[in-house]
Amino acid sequence: MQTRTLGGSSLVSSALAYGCWRIAGHGESHEFTTERLEHARRSIFAAYEHGYSLFDHADIYAHGLGEELFGHILKEVGGMRSQILITSKCGIVHAGAPDSHSPYRYDSSASHIIASCEASLKRLGIETIDLYMIHRPDFLGDPMEVARAVSQLRDQGKIREFGVSNFHCSQLSVLRKALSFPVVVNQIEVSLMHLTPFKDGTLDQCMLEEITPMAWSPLGGGKLAGQESISLNTSGHAHRGRIRDTADHIARAHGVSRSAVLLAWLLMHPSKMVPIIGSTQPEHIKQAAGAAELTLSREEWYQLMEASHGQHLP
Ligand code: NAP
Repeated sequence: MQTRTLGGSSLVSSALAYGCWRIAGHGESHEFTTERLEHARRSIFAAYEHGYSLFDHADIYAHGLGEELFGHILKEVGGMRSQILITSKCGIVHAGAPDSHSPYRYDSSASHIIASCEASLKRLGIETIDLYMIHRPDFLGDPMEVARAVSQLRDQGKIREFGVSNFHCSQLSVLRKALSFPVVVNQIEVSLMHLTPFKDGTLDQCMLEEITPMAWSPLGGGKLAGQESISLNTSGHAHRGRIRDTADHIARAHGVSRSAVLLAWLLMHPSKMVPIIGSTQPEHIKQAAGAAELTLSREEWYQLMEASHGQHLP
């Protein structure tokens, strides 16, 4: 698969990353079971086999079970660790901890960042996380405190590079001013269902400051990818339907899947975005990889933009 250098760092990723949010499967329980391990194994093996070399985690994915399952699989496949990049994130805390009244919240305090990173390393069974991110901006987060905690993790070799996720331009600028090292990625929601970063300066800032945008839910979290018919009662059905129909038309012309067209659309942006694929179906993971080989014409790109925009561009 084509590669991307992350920010100005020495980290080189496949153009499409693989997201481990869904690898533990569905359900309320976060127990480690052989069924869950097998589900995760099938997804991870498919991604590895089809050339995805960046695996995206967070401490909260399935309450840590995603990282734990991945750690098991990593031990099973000799040599895999040296061929891939592993990312993780911290800073979101589930409701109910430490006591039942505690709300869902953000925490970028130094103690939380350090403890979360150490817990992720343990679950993943590795010495170093290649790229460590703050998952969401913390309203109470002190940039100097974040800088201190992340510096310590870097100096101790527990992380290689640092990034953020879901940061607006101004939030990223404030944090950058406190750091003595670069922010190499901003992981943000981008897709034909979610064009905001094209319009609010987020992608411009990434290009200006040599930050790689990683696109989460690049297929709209599945809303754009599925084959099921869209009921008229579904909110945004016309929007989804227009994008899907346009992408299907282009996919037929190129002889590829709709998901490959939707992902190629993101890959063509000059910010050199890295979309993160979230499917756990080997066939879908393989089809998505086709995006890295596909080039759309400028006309096709704008047909899709127009389908999402809903009218002729001004
Ligand atoms: P996505 O790729 O937009 O959506 C994946 C969903 O689409 C899966 O449920 C998948 O189901 C479904 N799908 C249906 N048909 C498909 C097809 N033909 N091809 C591919 N997928 C199809 O991404 P996502 O899972 O929402 O997010 C991707 C990753 O981004 C996550 O794993 C996580 O690493 C990251 N993320 C980050 C944040 C953040 O705040 N930083 C937030 C959300 C996600 P099947 O499994 O049945 O294929």
